[in-house]
Amino acid sequence: LREDLETVTEEPDQSSYPRSRRIMVYVRMRPMSKQEKEAGARSCVRVVNKQDVYLAEFASETDYLRLKRLKGRHFVFDAAFPDATGQQEVYNTSTAELLEGVLQGRNGCVFCYGATGAGKTHTMLGSTQNPGVMVLALRDLFVKLNKRCREGDYVVRLSYLEVYNESVRDLLSPGRPLILREDSKQGTIAAGLTHYEAYSADEIMTLLHQGNQNRTTEPTRANETSSRSHAILQVTVEYKVLHDSHYVCRTGKLSLIDLAGSERALATDQRTIRSLEGANINRSLLALSSCINALVEGKRHIPFRNSKLTQLLKDSLGGGCQTAMIANISPSNLAFGETQNTLHWADRAKQIRTKASDVSEEVPVPESESDQAKLLLEVQKENQ
Ligand code: ADP
Ligand code: MG
Repeated sequence: LREDLETVTEEPDQSSYPRSRRIMVYVRMRPMSKQEKEAGARSCVRVVNKQDVYLAEFASETDYLRLKRLKGRHFVFDAAFPDATGQQEVYNTSTAELLEGVLQGRNGCVFCYGATGAGKTHTMLGSTQNPGVMVLALRDLFVKLNKRCREGDYVVRLSYLEVYNESVRDLLSPGRPLILREDSKQGTIAAGLTHYEAYSADEIMTLLHQGNQNRTTEPTRANETSSRSHAILQVTVEYKVLHDSHYVCRTGKLSLIDLAGSERALATDQRTIRSLEGANINRSLLALSSCINALVEGKRHIPFRNSKLTQLLKDSLGGGCQTAMIANISPSNLAFGETQNTLHWADRAKQIRTKASDVSEEVPVPESESDQAKLLLEVQKENQ
């Protein structure tokens, strides 16, 4: 199949860049849905060798045998997950390494993007029986913290917010829209956002599902969470570990993002972006595509301030942060255009370089227990 497929690969070999210096890009294909099967859909995507994705109008075995040649595109990603891939494997490959970074005092960011119905919320949130990246990351976090730190030597805080129609809302405590402001140390802050202190992963699934229920629903889609709302979960960890026979405080932050549906909203050229802006299409996603284009082209000015989403993601895209993207796609030929668009974007995102990861400043902890507690408190306050 591989040799016969008309292959278009324009990218330089991405593996020549160290993993920590670029965005890792993964693709997850979901299984064909019942509705798609009933509508007579056929698969137009093949995921092979754990990293190759073939997109073709005709990709079934019989078509291939008949035509002997497939016309389509071949993409290579850091990993590509076929439809049978479980949640744990997606987490292990895409996020586990970033969580380890958070425990070394770095920031990490994972976002899912793709068209509505492509599997973003399934990947990020999942269900109680089959939890996604958000819950698996928190489980892993508590296991690791309990192994490495004494009880009481760490604090885990969660915030969960949405960006909808350029307003920012707290999903843990819905109310008035939040105002964003810039802080020289902490970057963009949503004033008044709830920071929930978590003690175990078990309580979190319910909390996140409730939060997800609070996502804005569009009037025309009464039973569906909005396809235009971006949900951002931020997990901040502060902890004390023994390092070279001294206790040090470290802070790390993991951002997990379920983006709005990308249909019609991601554009590669400025003119399309401007005409879409006029049509009032999701401003935050457009701004994200502008920022990605500017980063790919190595521009000095990156227009992070153009939308709430990009303001919030500023230190995740441009700064010293480890970032992973999971592009979600349907296998169905009925979604061919959307899949093509998503794969194109994923392919482009591979070129984004990030700065060498900055490790957060380590604060030495004095000897006495009460002093240690005081310092920890101070660090916590400072980061609030
Ligand atoms: P999105 O958030 O991108 O709009 P969803 O995550 O809500 O899409 O997925 C749409 C439907 O497909 C849901 O019913 C979801 O349970 C199902 N689904 C998505 N991904 C998978 C998967 N990998 N395995 C099984 N079902 C999936
Ligand atoms: Mg969704």
